[in-house]
Amino acid sequence: MWPEGIRSAVALTVDLDGETPWTVKDPDIAAQPSALSMAQYGPRVGVPLILSLFDEMAVASTFFIPGKSAEDYTETVEAIAAAGHEIAAHGYTHTPPFRLTRDEEEAELVRALEVLGGFSDSVTGYRAPVYGVSVHTLELLAKHGIRYSSNFMDDIKPYRHAGSEVVELPVQWIMDDWTQFVHGSDDWLAQNATSAHVKQLWMEEFRAIHELGGLFVLTLHPQVIGRPSRVQMLAELISEMRSVEGVWITECNTIANHVAQEDA
Ligand SMILES: [Zn+2]
Repeated sequence: MWPEGIRSAVALTVDLDGETPWTVKDPDIAAQPSALSMAQYGPRVGVPLILSLFDEMAVASTFFIPGKSAEDYTETVEAIAAAGHEIAAHGYTHTPPFRLTRDEEEAELVRALEVLGGFSDSVTGYRAPVYGVSVHTLELLAKHGIRYSSNFMDDIKPYRHAGSEVVELPVQWIMDDWTQFVHGSDDWLAQNATSAHVKQLWMEEFRAIHELGGLFVLTLHPQVIGRPSRVQMLAELISEMRSVEGVWITECNTIANHVAQEDA
């Protein structure tokens, strides 16, 4: 499945949501001066810290960005592109496609691709907001030239969707910083795990996936992972992963291209 000498792959992905998850949930929230400030921390402070870490450690990453966030934070997205990271689509307003009609979903995708096309010549990946794809998503992705999805939780290895050219890079909540550091059952701000706990959880899952020759897709949000202690933990995590033999840490499009070629 992997190139010679490689046992497992790792994709360190970043979902640069900005304010969109909150504004799409509650359009009136902008009237509360501090309500969106945690979200604003992501592009303002979290991304520069993450970019400098990735630069120091020579990590190539994929940033999934809602079109609206790219419009709101042009300079942040320019810095991401200038650093050589992959830019991929994450809807326009951050509305999960399963809540949309087919036409609405297609309009969101087209608008997102138009905006992101201003920052990157090659946008070939898509992650739905909250991984919430619809029954139309795969067909729409293929129609608009998207070559991989990173939304499904049904495997530990990448695969090609049946009857489609679209490659899947599977995710899971265990490998998502939001559920570890933020998400409670009734309240989005219900827990604060220590970084040590989360690093242990992720290393356990990574080592087990590595043994099985799979793909570890980490989903990070700058407003969450971008807190100073968590950025330090991310540096330690990357170092520990790299100390394991046969690990390939790279961008999603590189992994998806490899899978497509293997499967051709
Ligand atoms: Zn998101």
